[in-house]
Order: sequence, then C-alpha cells, then structure tokens
Amino acid sequence: MELKATAKINLGLDVLRKREDGYHEVRMVMQMTGMYDRLVLTPLSKRGGIFLKTNHAYIPENENNLAYKAAKLLMDEFSVSDGLSIRLDKFIPVAAGLAGGSTDAAAVLNGVNELFHLGLSREELMERGGKIGADVPYCILGGTALAEGIGEKLSPLPAMPSCSILLAKPPVFISTKEVYGALRADSIERHPDIDGIIDALKRQELRELSSLMGNVLEDVTAPMHPVIREMEREMEEGGALRAVMSGSGPTVFGLFDDYDAARKCRNGMRKKYSSARIFLTEPCTGRE
Ligand code: ATP
Repeated sequence: MELKATAKINLGLDVLRKREDGYHEVRMVMQMTGMYDRLVLTPLSKRGGIFLKTNHAYIPENENNLAYKAAKLLMDEFSVSDGLSIRLDKFIPVAAGLAGGSTDAAAVLNGVNELFHLGLSREELMERGGKIGADVPYCILGGTALAEGIGEKLSPLPAMPSCSILLAKPPVFISTKEVYGALRADSIERHPDIDGIIDALKRQELRELSSLMGNVLEDVTAPMHPVIREMEREMEEGGALRAVMSGSGPTVFGLFDDYDAARKCRNGMRKKYSSARIFLTEPCTGRE
C-alpha cells in the first residue's frame, strides 16, 4: 500500500496562555499543502514486528520514529500478529514547522487501519493520533481547520482559495520545544487576528486572508535567524501577497495569486539560497 503524507502550514498561529501543566493553549488555522512524504506499507505474514527503513540519514528507524509509533499503537491494541514493513521516503524537511513526523504518523494510522481491516472511524483514529502528538489528529482530518486547546480540538473550515504556496526552509536547526520554552505567553505584543482569517476564508478573500496571516512564534525564532525575515522579504518583493513563518519555523511560506510570479521567485531563491529547500506547491486536502 502506497501512501502520501502531506505537510501542513499555519495560516495563523496564536498562543493564548501557558497552562499549569506546561502546555500552551493555542488557536491555529491549519492548511495542508501538496508537499508530501511517500510511505509504502507491506504486511508480512511470515514474521511479526515492525521494520522501518527511510531515505533520511538523521531520523530514527526505531520506535522513536512517529511512523513506527503509530503502527505499534494500533498493532498492539488489536493484537495484530502479522508483521509490517514501512518504507518511508522523506521529502518534507525535518524539524521545519511542517509537521513532517506527525503527518507520517497520521498516514500510518490510516494505512494500518485499512491493511489489517481494523474498522476504526476517522474520529477513532484521530483520538489515537492525539496520543502520538498534538498535530496528528489534524493531519488525519486534513484540509483547512481551526485547531484549539493544545492543537487537538479541531473544527473544519472552508477550503482555502486556490493560490500558489512557495515554501522555503533555510538550513538552520530549530527545536519546537526550545521555541515554546523561550516564548513569554503573557507578554505577546501582537496577536494575529485568527477570527479575521476565518472570516476571510468564509468569504474566499485571498488578499485579505494574506494580510491577516501571522505567527506569534516568529517573534521568538526570527531574531535568532535573520534569514527568516530576509526570505519573507524576498518572497514579498517577488510578488507574494504575504510571507510568514510556519509553526515554530524555520520554514517560511509565501502566498501568490500569480503562478508565474511564484515560479520566478522560486527559481531566483533557489539560486540565491543554494543550501535551502525551496518548493512550490498549492493548498490541498491531504485526503486524496
Ligand atoms: P512540528 O511542525 O509539528 O513542530 P516539525 O516539522 O518541526 O514538526 P518533524 O519534522 O516532525 O518536526 O521532526 C521533529 C523531530 O522528530 C526530529 O528531530 C526527528 O528526529 C523526529 N522524528 C520522529 N519521527 C519522524 C518522522 N517520521 N519524520 C520526521 N522526523 C521524525
């Protein structure tokens, strides 16, 4: 079974407060893109266990990989005696703010449910996904959605208007944990207008949506890595309606209503930032 695990961006990311348990309460507008990892799941009837191989040198191939964790969670619960081989080809940049690991886990939950005829509904899969990571339930739902709580309370939103999305991941390493650790949730100066973004989605107003996009984590990450704001400027000068950072970064994305301008900007940025990962895509549901 071959699966595509798509990457998300945050059209808006707000942090409301830090909870007593240390987690942050968020309000995020999530959007799937057409960038994806490819997974091939093969059931093994002659041997038990999970065997994961990836094309990526630095991500684990054991139970620390979220794809492995997802398979194990369902296979243990349903006492599946067959084994499973997972081939994971990563194209989504790792530790990039694109929920790469979470989306792999979501794809594996869907795949294992189908392969071994477990009969779980989407809601039941989402509930199990939440045990693996806060973004996993959204990655199962896909499309455009509002995520609240710690990211697990989801409400589907109208699909994003069609546009080109230029993604740029500079070659800097960011730890999500450190970014949230450095955020002072009670002294955030500029909160993005999440309700305004939702309203613009309802009215299919791409320009207005672009102008309202914002991410409170950018004020933590961007000062540490000036290339983030530099890339945003580059995209906006190249015709993006707006460019902001996704998740805890460092990936920057720009929205374009003109495909040719987006392509030209991609080509220019690939030349200028030869060690960055630059990719042109579009909104998608992540459910094909
Ligand atoms: P988020 O947007 O949810 O913060 P991210 O895109 O920043 O996610 P990931 O790419 O999911 O981050 O990876 C973060 C860490 O998780 C990496 O250090 C990596 O070693 C580990 N990891 C475990 N499983 C995977 C996987 N399947 N793909 C990528 N990274 C994985």
